[in-house]
Amino acid sequence: MSGDELRDLYQDVIIDHGKRPRNFRPIEGATCTAEGFNPLCGDQLRVYIKLEDGVIADIGFQGAGCAISQASASLMTLAVKGKKPAQALELFARVHSLLTEGPNNPVEPAELGKLAVLSGVWEFPVRVKCATLAWHTLRSALEGGASQVTTE
Ligand code: ZN
Repeated sequence: MSGDELRDLYQDVIIDHGKRPRNFRPIEGATCTAEGFNPLCGDQLRVYIKLEDGVIADIGFQGAGCAISQASASLMTLAVKGKKPAQALELFARVHSLLTEGPNNPVEPAELGKLAVLSGVWEFPVRVKCATLAWHTLRSALEGGASQVTTE
């Protein structure tokens, strides 16, 4: 895929998921939840997870913020549903590398599916925290850590 194609896809996906986020709902009977806040942009969201038999059986989020924070959370819920917590955290590590290292990252885009479009965020360093907010919040929820995490 060329850089231009990826850029177009990035815009399409961010706009689509930003406007119509998937799994934008609280989960009834959630086993873990956490709240995240990105003071740099004002994005906030709460992630709800239902763990069953050692996998993320269901995941949802609610919140408000810029299109990138919403789209990234939406894509995240689609990507980690059905995965084990350890696999979800491994995916976070890959996404993080994609966002912070851009074209130099060692991750194969094919391994990430739709999440690969997030590599477009790399061109806008100020937006990286918007894109990682949902993932930091996911990790906090899975680790049962602080009730609120911030990207600072
Ligand atoms: Zn933002």
